[in-house]
Amino acid sequence: MAKKDTNSYCSFCGRSDKEVNMLISGMSADICDSCAEQAYQIVKESLEAKSKSSLGIDKTQLPDPKTIKEYLDGYIIGQDNAKRYLAVAVYNHYKRILQGKDDDIEIEKSNIILVGPTGTGKTLLARTIAKLLHVPFAIVDATVLTEAGYVGEDIESILTRLLQASDYDVAAAERGIVFIDEIDKIARKSDNPSITRDVSGEGVQQGLLKLLEGSIVNVPPQGGRKHPDQKMIAVDTKNILFVCGGAFDGIERKIAQRLNTMVVGYASSKSNARVDRENLLQYVAPQDLKSYGLIPEIIGRLPILTYLDALDRSALRRILAEPKNSIIKQYVKLFKMDGVTLTFDEDVYEYIVDKAIEYKLGARGLRSIVETIMMDAMFNIPSTKQAELHITKEYAVEQLESSQMIKLKNSQ
Ligand code: ADP
Repeated sequence: MAKKDTNSYCSFCGRSDKEVNMLISGMSADICDSCAEQAYQIVKESLEAKSKSSLGIDKTQLPDPKTIKEYLDGYIIGQDNAKRYLAVAVYNHYKRILQGKDDDIEIEKSNIILVGPTGTGKTLLARTIAKLLHVPFAIVDATVLTEAGYVGEDIESILTRLLQASDYDVAAAERGIVFIDEIDKIARKSDNPSITRDVSGEGVQQGLLKLLEGSIVNVPPQGGRKHPDQKMIAVDTKNILFVCGGAFDGIERKIAQRLNTMVVGYASSKSNARVDRENLLQYVAPQDLKSYGLIPEIIGRLPILTYLDALDRSALRRILAEPKNSIIKQYVKLFKMDGVTLTFDEDVYEYIVDKAIEYKLGARGLRSIVETIMMDAMFNIPSTKQAELHITKEYAVEQLESSQMIKLKNSQ
């Protein structure tokens, strides 16, 4: 009589438990470690492929403007006006992409321009929207762009960034969002464009036009300068949403001038409408961008114009701890990973905000200040068995008033 085989076998590759590292038993089948790993890879790849194709959003996935705004509220403090404008513009943009081709009424693209002081959340807004919609997102700095033939980057390199962000999935890139920062820096320097060649100004604006209005652009896959042997990738910009941002320093003067010249008509039509002179940016209009030096064609291609408020004390205080991934929450998480519960006294927050204001660092400075305060603890705590860390104001002051703080001050 043959001896009974007591071995178990992998139901996929047939190897016995003696030949594999591990055999996992199910109800009526077994799987070995290497087959399980292969199965995991197959599942992972197919899920990834699926999520890529779903970048072509369908109607049911498209969040309505209120939902977009609520999502933004989770990450960005204040800036209600900009959030509402963005939410509507983005909603309409993707609705436009989803519209059937059989329709006579073609909805025009609504690129956006955000005007507001630096560090008030322009980039954060655009980035957060891209995250919500799961579309590729690229940030480019308008100051590095020059007209073809000059030192600097070709305008097309904007799309290279987007292609890189989408892993060279052209279809995904063609529905992405591009944030062009410092658009005000390519404003025309003088009122008379013909006096000298304005390499980084009007020429760049002209170049940008064709991207903004939607056309098929040959993009160098690696960016930089185009050269003849390089194989280009054709990208259609028709459905790419462009969000431009700029501080437009001094634009308040242009706004004030305009408001002053129309004050008679203004006052007579709306007798109780009073101009809030402290916050003129809220009145920004396309003609102010024109007086600032953007060419009318560009302004026409950026029909959604909105502004961001400067961040006051209470906004900075909220930014520190309230957003879903606020700076404080990030540090609490970092310490938690070492098994340490991190807590702060309320007056530490006030102190951090005071310092950010004192050094005119704005929201960006909050992080460097917290980093400086937490540096010693981050260095020492992981090698101790400490389970709790409480930061008092005295501790914060002591940490900040070391050489690190001087560095911060000097970086101004
Ligand atoms: P900019 O307006 O210059 O594009 P950013 O969006 O890059 O400014 O803001 C810089 C950083 O400051 C952000 O990454 C974020 O941490 C913080 N920040 C700025 N404004 C806000 C805000 N309104 N709400 C939350 N965080 C903000």
